[in-house]
Parts: sequence; C-alpha cells; structure tokens
Amino acid sequence: MVSGRISSAWKSYRSVGIVYRIGVAFVLGSVLGLVVGDAATILQPVGDLFVRLLKMLIVPIVVFTLLMGVRQLTPSSLGRVGGQVVALYAATSALAVAVGLTVANVIQPGSRGLESLLDQAEAQSAEAPSFTEVVLNIVPANPLGAMAEGSVLPTIFFVVVFGLALALVQEETDDPAVSRGIETFFDLAEAGAEAMFKVVWGVMEFGVLGVFALMASVFGEAGVDAIVPFALLILTMFVAALVHIGVVYLGGVVLGVLGRSPLSFLSGARDAMVTALSIRSSSGTLPVTMSDADDNLGVAERIYSFTLPLGATINMDGTAMYQGVAAIFAANVVGVNLSLADQFAVVSVAVLASVGTAGVPGSGLIMLTLVLTQLGLPLEIVGVVAGVDPILDRLRTMVNVTGDLAITTAVAKWNGAVDFTTGVWGDGVRSPL
Ligand code: ASP
Repeated sequence: MVSGRISSAWKSYRSVGIVYRIGVAFVLGSVLGLVVGDAATILQPVGDLFVRLLKMLIVPIVVFTLLMGVRQLTPSSLGRVGGQVVALYAATSALAVAVGLTVANVIQPGSRGLESLLDQAEAQSAEAPSFTEVVLNIVPANPLGAMAEGSVLPTIFFVVVFGLALALVQEETDDPAVSRGIETFFDLAEAGAEAMFKVVWGVMEFGVLGVFALMASVFGEAGVDAIVPFALLILTMFVAALVHIGVVYLGGVVLGVLGRSPLSFLSGARDAMVTALSIRSSSGTLPVTMSDADDNLGVAERIYSFTLPLGATINMDGTAMYQGVAAIFAANVVGVNLSLADQFAVVSVAVLASVGTAGVPGSGLIMLTLVLTQLGLPLEIVGVVAGVDPILDRLRTMVNVTGDLAITTAVAKWNGAVDFTTGVWGDGVRSPL
C-alpha cells in the first residue's frame, strides 16, 4: 500500500518535464539558501557529485556525437550545394559565437553576486596560454592521451579528422570488408551516442538534486545579490539573439544576399521561429521549418529537403552563441578576463561542438561542459545556469532554426531554386500553418 503510493508519487513526479523540475529545484534551492544562510553549504557535496557526473560525460559525448555528425558530411552527398551550405553554416556559427562574446563582454553578466563560486576556480585560471599555444594545442601529439586527460579541443580535432577519413575511405574503397567495417563503426558510434543520451538523462534526473544543492549553497553564501547575474545572463542572450538575427540574417543574408525585405523574411519564418520558441527543439520544429521554406519562402524542395535536416543536425548558431555568452559569464564569476587566445578557443570549440549537438531541448547545456573544460573554468556553472536554461534554450533554438532558413534561402538563390513571385515575397499570402 505504502509502496503503491510511493510508486504513484514517483510516476507523477516523473510525468513533469525534467527541465521544469530542475527549474523548481533551482527556485527551492535558492530560497533555502536565502533562508538558512551559510549552513546551506552543507549540501555542497551533492552539487559536487553532479559536477563529477557531468565531467564523466565529456569525452564519450564528444567521440560518439561528433562521429555521428560527421557521418552526414560524406563528400558525394554534399556536392556543390552541400559545400556552400556547410561553409555558410560554419561561418554564421562562428559569427554567432563572436556576437555572443561581444555582447557578453559589454554586459559582463556574471561580474556581481556569485563570488561564492570563486574559490575553487582561482587556482586554475592563473596562467593563460598564448595565442600560438592555443592554436598548436588544437592538434594532439597523442590522441588517446588527449582523451585520457579530457583535453577538449584536441579530442574534437582528432575525432573530426578521423570521422572525415572514415567517410572518405567509405566512398573510395571497393573492398566490401572495409566498407562493412566502416558502416559498423559508424553504427557503433550511433549506438554509443544513443546510450550516452540515456546517461545524460539519468545525470539530469540527479541534476534536480544537484541544482537544488548548488543553488542552496550559492544563495546561502551570496545572499539575494545572486539574482542579478541570472537576470543579466538572460538579458545578454536576448540582446545577442536580436543582434545576430538583425545583423547577420536580416542585414547580411536577407538584404545583402537576397536583396529582399527583412520583414517579408521574418513573416515567412515566423511559424518556425514561434514553434522553436515553444518546443525548444530544432529537430521537432523541422516539419514547420520545411513548410515555411516551401510555402512562404518559395524555396525548391530539392534544396530544402537536404539543407534543412542537415541544418537541424549540424547548424546551431544559437547554441554556439550561448557558449560564448556562458564562457564570459563563467569568467566573470571566477573573476578572470578571457584573453583573445581564450576567446578564439571558445569560437573553435563552440563551432565544432555545435556540429555534435542534437536538436533536442537542453542539449546545448551539456555542450557547455566542453567550453568550460577547455578554459579551465568551474563546471559548477553548468548546474548553476541549468535553472534558467528553459528560458535560454528557447532563444537558442529560435536562432538555430532562423539560421537554417536564412542560409537555405541564400543557397537556393545562388542555385536558381527560389521563387520570389510566391509566398511572402510576391503577393504576401502566407501559409495557413
Ligand atoms: N534546444 C536546441 C535545439 O534543439 C539545442 C540547444 O539546447 O542548444 O536546437
């Protein structure tokens, strides 16, 4: 009877989405910290355990998810359109990180209120490597050594090179054994990635407790001032998203490349943008994104049927931008200035990591572990910002799908595959979606 009650209570607890439970844990932990003060730091080990679990995920996530991402980039499936799309996807993602870094450098979202996290991180940020060192260190002298040490950028570099080599050999070989082996290898990576996502969900289940404990000790030590950085973090992401959409997509792509009205483009992309804001998943939004491309923006199916699913998998400008914003936030909390070399490393990690980010709710938060590890900044930040992630994730996802649509329309124009007499461009009639 009692066990029946417990199991039904557990079921109703689990029926609430994990991010909302984390959001509630964030609020309750903060309140507890504010009420009991310093004594709440007794919960710190629970937060530490959450951080260790996150650390455990880093290397396997990089290896499996990047191999899966690279699998999509086989030379023959890409061709001319693919080359243009991938180049623009990568360039706009790099710009997005730069926008995120710039806006965050201006606002300095984490500079006040979270000093209590300072202590353990100070030691690590003593010496910043020079720019040359950062660039040289991208190439691992020993790939297994890099993985064993959990060095992020060299691991990413090796996995991307290895994955591309596998894809190339797969296309060139006429030995069926090699071809089968490569298929199996990619299949294993896919299975590994699936398994890791299961582990991520398990870790996030524990994260409800972890975030509660972290917030209790943060607010226990810092008091009510700790609210400020979270509000500034949301503001920073909001401004960065507006700047990127306004300058890069509307100014650069719509006015510059398409020579059309930004308002028409926004009206054409509106359904996808609103859906992304509501469901926080670019993969989930894909059917709406495709319908916008077809009905509203007049893009030919031969282009968007290839570029949009690819974009939903590898092109995540909002996610990449958030890595830049969060890196500055974390550096502010720790009280260090990121050197130009550090910021370059953030761009590299964020662009490459966004290739491996799945278009599902919250995945960008896990990718933050990579950037923080690369910079030697405390992983506690992931737990600390998890509570406001439902808001930040909406902005990221909206930018992600807007970017897919903007680039798709530009590439369609270059390949004579957009009809400017229909949809929002012509008579202004929108699809009913
Ligand atoms: N939710 C985002 C997406 O689906 C990924 C992220 O968490 O940044 O596009």
